[in-house]
Amino acid sequence: MSEPAAAALERIDLHTHSHCSDGTLSPSELVRLAATRGVTLLALTDHDTTAGLAEAQAACAHHGIGFVTGIELSCCWRDSEIHVLGLRFDAADAGLAALCDAQIARRRVRISAMATRLAALGLPGDALARSALMAASPTRAHLAQSLHERSLADSPQDAFDRYLAPGKPGYVAAAWPAMGEILACIRDAGGIAVLAHPHRYGLSAARRLALVGEFKALGGEALEISVAGMSPGEGAAAERLARRFGLAGSTGSDFHQPGLPWRPLGRFAKLAEAVTPITVRLAQLPRGSAEER
Ligand code: AMP
Ligand code: MN
Ligand code: MN
Ligand code: MN
Repeated sequence: MSEPAAAALERIDLHTHSHCSDGTLSPSELVRLAATRGVTLLALTDHDTTAGLAEAQAACAHHGIGFVTGIELSCCWRDSEIHVLGLRFDAADAGLAALCDAQIARRRVRISAMATRLAALGLPGDALARSALMAASPTRAHLAQSLHERSLADSPQDAFDRYLAPGKPGYVAAAWPAMGEILACIRDAGGIAVLAHPHRYGLSAARRLALVGEFKALGGEALEISVAGMSPGEGAAAERLARRFGLAGSTGSDFHQPGLPWRPLGRFAKLAEAVTPITVRLAQLPRGSAEER
């Protein structure tokens, strides 16, 4: 399929990863690539860490790209793991820093537990854990990469399929905090909460409706609609949900590394006109700020 005409593409990418979590590029390399793709506004949203934000901000200033602070926080809703993006928060907020510390601690416990399971399968659990735990925010993707590098899986995807995905023998669920706790923390740091990739949780339409309704009721402000890799049908369904609950629409690639064609930095379809773009919310003052009062 050919790429949509340039006019139909957004150049606002508010969902990207660097090597501070499970991306492969440094924040500076990511921003340099974004500049070559014509990105005009960028958020770095690493999993559960703000470690790359200062470097990304400086690189964006250098390349003349607008910069938004970002993070992707894992949480739970009912029995599902959900990802919430925080945007435009105060990166020096103490509450958010404490939450990140707690999230990273949960990640480390979980990676160790998964390594124990992998060891029980005859795999080198200690070595796998050691390399994954070197990351600032260790993820299952690091275990997958390590399994692949040791020729214990044909590819990182194969490692997920054989060992690391839910239901596979190396999987351990993480003890993430409830969605409401994450939303309160983002709000208290002056940020905007975006429900990430609503099509990727394996929920029925009825449960997705309940999720988005609860997200809105708990103070969530936007739904990720134009995500690279979303089918037109999934995009239309997300648009209907955003309009129904009065949520803004956010756009992002969920870029992790060059060469993955379904997550291309800065390349995705435009939002429908009926949905309020997230840029409108980003331009508003944080709720409860002194200036607002
Ligand atoms: P974690 O947050 O530790 O559960 O790690 C999940 C990360 O691994 C995600 O952010 C994705 O980047 C990647 N990932 C999750 N599931 C898969 C999968 N089935 N195949 C490939 N990558 C995956
Ligand atoms: Mn990831
Ligand atoms: Mn995610
Ligand atoms: Mn992501």
